[in-house]
Order: sequence, then structure tokens, then C-alpha cells
Amino acid sequence: MAEATLAAGVLAGSRRALAKAITLVESTRPDHGERALGLLDALLPHAGRSIRVGITGVPGVGKSTFIEVLGMQLIAQGHRVAVLAVDPSSSRSGGSILGDKTRMERLSLREEAFIRPTPAAGALGGVAGKTREAMLLCEAAGFDVIIVETVGVGQSETAVAGMTDVFVLLQLPNAGDELQALKKGIVELADIVVVNKSDLDPVAAELAAGQMKSALALLRPASKSWQPQVLTLSAARNQGVDGFWRVVENYRHVLQASGEFEAKRHRQARYWMWALIDSGLSRRFRNHPEVKTALPELAAAVEAGTTTPAAAAKRLLALFENRN
Ligand code: GDP
Repeated sequence: MAEATLAAGVLAGSRRALAKAITLVESTRPDHGERALGLLDALLPHAGRSIRVGITGVPGVGKSTFIEVLGMQLIAQGHRVAVLAVDPSSSRSGGSILGDKTRMERLSLREEAFIRPTPAAGALGGVAGKTREAMLLCEAAGFDVIIVETVGVGQSETAVAGMTDVFVLLQLPNAGDELQALKKGIVELADIVVVNKSDLDPVAAELAAGQMKSALALLRPASKSWQPQVLTLSAARNQGVDGFWRVVENYRHVLQASGEFEAKRHRQARYWMWALIDSGLSRRFRNHPEVKTALPELAAAVEAGTTTPAAAAKRLLALFENRN
């Protein structure tokens, strides 16, 4: 399909056109890369009118249950909801976060929803590189709530927090879970922490929330105008999910009033440009013929201690700069 037709389809809100556009953007073929850039350029002016919500939590914490209940509520309020899942396995079919067809069954049947896994690794721009572009395409297609879901592994949290307006950490109502998240540095990224499954043990859930509040109070808040909030809810029983969305709306309101909302998006866009430059340069460096030839010997010399890493790096960079 020609880009103009595809762009028109996306702008008209066609889920089919949107799916095709995302496939094009995700493609690793060089000729597709050029077309994808053209498409993104054409659609960028229509992107941005959404709230971008990042959601993370260990497998089993209830992310898909929560997103489905939240998504259905938002649709009932007139929103259109896109869910992009950053798939750390990077295989579309494997037993990964969206491999299970029963996830978000009701939501996936709705016209007002769009659900799609996006590959996490290997893309230009690093982890979740293509997710950001898929997000812009969803916005151009008129989705005004974008949920980017990731599981608690690897660097995907940082990547997702770096492309969303509000980052939500889902926790289980037990202290071990809290310690894990603290250890991995995920709590620092959270604007809202949700203790899910509070129906199982309301007392334990309140206790976990209290501990999380104390932990958060010790961290330096990322925002001048927002102190991270902790709430308890039950996604499975649909208790507290509406309250969660009120907190998200309040967050947006507070950060828009302080100017931080726009500033964060600007910062993220600039950061994104640099991530693409860095990864593009790195790729060109590694593919440079003279670098490729000289690299094994120099790497071996560094390992053997006969050359310093600094000298080897300097030599390789000189080879790269002479002819690239
Ligand atoms: P995910 O791996 O984070 O996406 O978690 P799922 O949404 O698949 O949920 C894992 C399991 O926890 C499922 O069996 C859900 O039914 C269950 N679950 C999710 N939310 C709740 C909740 O609020 N209370 C209870 N009791 N179970 C829940």
C-alpha cells in the first residue's frame, strides 16, 4: 500500500491501516525503513493528543486484568484506547506476554480498542525502539489513551518510562514484591504505585501500601509538582479502578499547570533523537569494513593485556573516521 493511502487510512482511524503502518515501522528492511520515515513524518503533526500511560509489574501481578477493566471503563467514557505491550521475548508467537490469546479478551473485541505486542529488543534506538513509533501512529489514528505495558525484566521499564507521561508500577500485596522493585530501581520511575489484588487480603494490601509510601518518601521525587501516589485496588473485582483513573487525570492536570507535562515530552523527544543517533552510529561503526577487519585482533590484544582498551578504541575510531 502506498504511504499516502496508508497515512489516510491511519488518520481515518482504521485499525487495519494502523496495524499495517506499525508492521512497516517495525520492519528491518532498509527500503521499508525509508517508507516508514516518510509515513511517520506525514503523521507526526497528528500525533501527541493523548495521555501516554506506562504500566509495569511482574508476571501474574494482574496487568492484563487491570488494563482490560480500565480499558472498558475508558471506552464507556468515550475514549479510544490503544495497548502496546513491550514484549521482552521479541517473538510474536512465543509464550510471551501477549502470546496467550485469552488476555484482554473483552477489550480486544471492541472497535474502540487496539491491542498489539511490539518487539522489545534489537530495534534501532535500543529497547522498545519501535514501541515509541507505534505509539505515535496510534495517536494519529485517534487513540487518546495509549497504554504501554511491560513486564518487570531488563531495561524495558526505563525505556517505557522514558516514552510515557505517567509511569505506573503494579505491586502484589506482599513485602517481598516491594523489595524486589526497590532493588531493581523500578520504584524510582513510578509516578503511581498500585497495590493490586487487595481483595485477597485487605490488611496486607494496606500494609504493603504503607511500606511503599515510606520507601517513596525517601526517594527524591522526579517531579517538582508531583509526589508519587500509592493506592490499593482489586482489578479482578473492579474495585478502585475508577479511582486510579482520577489520580491519572489529577496527575495530568497538576503537571500541565506547572508546565512539566510539556517539558517532559520535549525532553523525551530530544532524548529519543540522541538514542537514535547513538545506536545509528554504533551500528555504522560495527559495520565499517576496516573496523570489522581490525576489530578481532585488537579485541584479542586488549584481552591479552598487550594493548589498553583506550588505545584500541582510539585506533578503531580513527579507522572509522578516515573513511565512512
Ligand atoms: P499479568 O501477568 O500481570 O498480566 O497478570 P494477569 O492479569 O494475567 O493476572 C494473573 C492472575 O491474577 C489471573 O489469574 C487473574 O485472574 C488474577 N488477578 C488479577 N487481578 C486480580 C485481583 O485484583 N484479585 C485477585 N484475587 N486476582 C487477580
